[in-house]
Amino acid sequence: MGYMKEKVAYLRGMAEGMGIGGDPQGKLIGLMIETMDEMADAIDESELSIQEMDECIDDIYEELDAVEEYLFDDEDEDEFGEDDFLEVECPHCGETVYFDQGMLEADDLICPNCNETILSGEDEE
Ligand SMILES: [Zn+2]
Repeated sequence: MGYMKEKVAYLRGMAEGMGIGGDPQGKLIGLMIETMDEMADAIDESELSIQEMDECIDDIYEELDAVEEYLFDDEDEDEFGEDDFLEVECPHCGETVYFDQGMLEADDLICPNCNETILSGEDEE
């Protein structure tokens, strides 16, 4: 039994103990308790749905983790050092420049120091 249901049951017992019920006011109180009981049911139901949604979201997160692991598996351990940056010495100006993974996926690597093309496409010297 949910917390709200318990409270309503307590109220119902209290009303019965006080002998409320016969006169119009007693009927009104009886109806109010009935209404609260239905509300408590609705609240319990929503709590259950929320719990189910929580579990669904947990599952989705787990699956996302698996997908992430699959997509990015080991990739940055060999090619990239700390923070996924690749260190390159520019053949034009000799400056050591850093490229992140996103920049490496672009066609050309442009030296931020001298604006010359370091790499055009793949493995071209
Ligand atoms: Zn340069």
